[in-house]
Amino acid sequence: MPEGDTIFRAARTLQRALAGRTVTGFESVYPLLNRVHEDTPLTGRQVESVSARGKHLLIAFSGDLILRTHMRMHGSWHLYRPGERWQRPRHEMRLVLTTDAFVAVGFNVPDAEFLTRGDLARQAQLDQLGPDLLADDFDAAEAVRRMRLHPDVAIADVLLNQRVLAGIGNVFKSEILFVARIHPWTPVRTLSDDALNRIVRIALRQLRTNVTSRDRTLAPAPGRRTTGSLHPGKGLWVYGRVGDPCRECGTPIALDKQGADARLTYFCANCQTQES
Ligand SMILES: [Zn+2]
Repeated sequence: MPEGDTIFRAARTLQRALAGRTVTGFESVYPLLNRVHEDTPLTGRQVESVSARGKHLLIAFSGDLILRTHMRMHGSWHLYRPGERWQRPRHEMRLVLTTDAFVAVGFNVPDAEFLTRGDLARQAQLDQLGPDLLADDFDAAEAVRRMRLHPDVAIADVLLNQRVLAGIGNVFKSEILFVARIHPWTPVRTLSDDALNRIVRIALRQLRTNVTSRDRTLAPAPGRRTTGSLHPGKGLWVYGRVGDPCRECGTPIALDKQGADARLTYFCANCQTQES
């Protein structure tokens, strides 16, 4: 699943390419989007901004119209020059936004809708996303407060709850808990404030480190790194490494399914002790 850093990077790259430009075309496989485009055409509107809110990507157009998309598991946004060959097959295209200089193509984006600012404000209240790790005004104390609202839930599941902390997916969940040396099954109530604050600090560092590079292609997981190593095979501590030796102690990395929707969790049973 694309994590907060992917959405943030996508938003930043799309913002650089599209903001201030006039829309020259729009196409989608979704009838509802096309109907809005027919009734109140995008063509001729200006792209005002592209931003991330949690895992939602928002493209705002002049005239109070916002395109909200969510990439879910397999969606991605690509940017092309007009006429440039796409890197994915056409049947994976879900929406295309064209300006004079760039074409933004959403591939396999399963969740897309047009909203007004009023709609968006109402949705925000419904979503109640937790503090966004990539926002300038990130509030660590509020994040810890929200973690404490789930005392009996395993810390790994709490980290995935976007109402607690916005931006963490499966990769960072496993990586953060390894670096914190906390076992993924540990219920929040047994963790000290120090431990929770440490988790938040590590999460901040990992997500922010991963948005500094400038990617042109906005596919999920573009060379995500948490170890500090630039070696392509050594970028992650535990994620995707089941059976491989732990980089710290040599114990084979374990993999388990956890939570209501059986999300994969990678960990080192030797380094990540239950207590903290
Ligand atoms: Zn280990």
